Amino acid sequence: MQVKICHLYPEVLNLYGDRGNILCMRRRLEWRGIECTVDSLRIGDRKPLSDYDLFFVGGGQDFEQEVLLEDLRAGNGEEIKAAIADGRTFLCICGGYQMMGHYYETHEGVRCDFLGAIDLHTIGGEKRLIDNYAFRLSEESGAGTVVGFENHSGRTYLGSGVDPLGKVLRGNGNNGEDGTEGVHYKNVFGTYSHGPVLPKNPGLCDWILRSALERKYGTAQLAPLDDGFETAAHESVLQKVMNGEI
Ligand code: GLN
Repeated sequence: MQVKICHLYPEVLNLYGDRGNILCMRRRLEWRGIECTVDSLRIGDRKPLSDYDLFFVGGGQDFEQEVLLEDLRAGNGEEIKAAIADGRTFLCICGGYQMMGHYYETHEGVRCDFLGAIDLHTIGGEKRLIDNYAFRLSEESGAGTVVGFENHSGRTYLGSGVDPLGKVLRGNGNNGEDGTEGVHYKNVFGTYSHGPVLPKNPGLCDWILRSALERKYGTAQLAPLDDGFETAAHESVLQKVMNGEI
């Protein structure tokens, strides 16, 4: 078995070491004897995205999101939308998550028309939502809770019928109002969790990997790993976040 990962726009969407998520996915595949290749798509690159099973898009500042618009319009936007429609797996963080929606209107009133691949949109607020936070994933994930760090001006609103990735336990999530966090649409996993969120949330990582393997091979039995350290890290952060210590 093999999973081919494509890192979208690593040169601009690269905040907080988000790319550590790729290392985590790769390692958890290789520990199970599943081959993994990692490639990237940069501004100006033109290649068929149907060659890949799993895409990673990190976060970026407002300016960097604006810089991408032209490249998306020049063809890569259609490739990304086709890959989503085709059930390929995406992990999208913050600015990369906002990019999947219809648009992002910054607090200064600049409107970025994005892909519209998922029925959601984002409006920039005056106060940034910055916090360590926690949310509970849906039942189907079998993965429980996620701990992470959020830092965004954008308030994201999901269209009716679009499922969030989880429900906020502590912190802001999508908009600080409706208790939702992120999005789960087809095999797209969108979240505001910055930095390498996956190492301390191995259940979320495996859920994402399973989706890519199931699409490609029709089935995905991931052998259990010894997640002692990962679980201890998760539990320790969760406790601190829930107690308001961090
Ligand atoms: N520029 C977006 C916002 O502030 C995304 C930020 C990010 O990716 N951290 O909402």
